[in-house]
Amino acid sequence: MPLPSFRSSRSKVRRRRSHHALKQIAVTKCAKCEAPLLPHRACKACGAYADRSVKATGMKEVEKTLVKKAKKSKKAAPAASEVKS
Ligand SMILES: [Zn+2]
Repeated sequence: MPLPSFRSSRSKVRRRRSHHALKQIAVTKCAKCEAPLLPHRACKACGAYADRSVKATGMKEVEKTLVKKAKKSKKAAPAASEVKS
């Protein structure tokens, strides 16, 4: 197994390790519910991102999104019976 030819000096080791320190994570508060929040991520508690809801949190919201998707798909591709008449 290959080995380094020369031993690293104390100075060189310390210079290399000067970049190994961990940085503190920037934690902010959610604007709506004030839960702790990581930057550039939607809130896990209420699903808000930049003062608007981006995540379906309850069954009512899930149903709303499903209805919207169904309406969109009908508009994009009309049923075969509608095309003939
Ligand atoms: Zn929130």
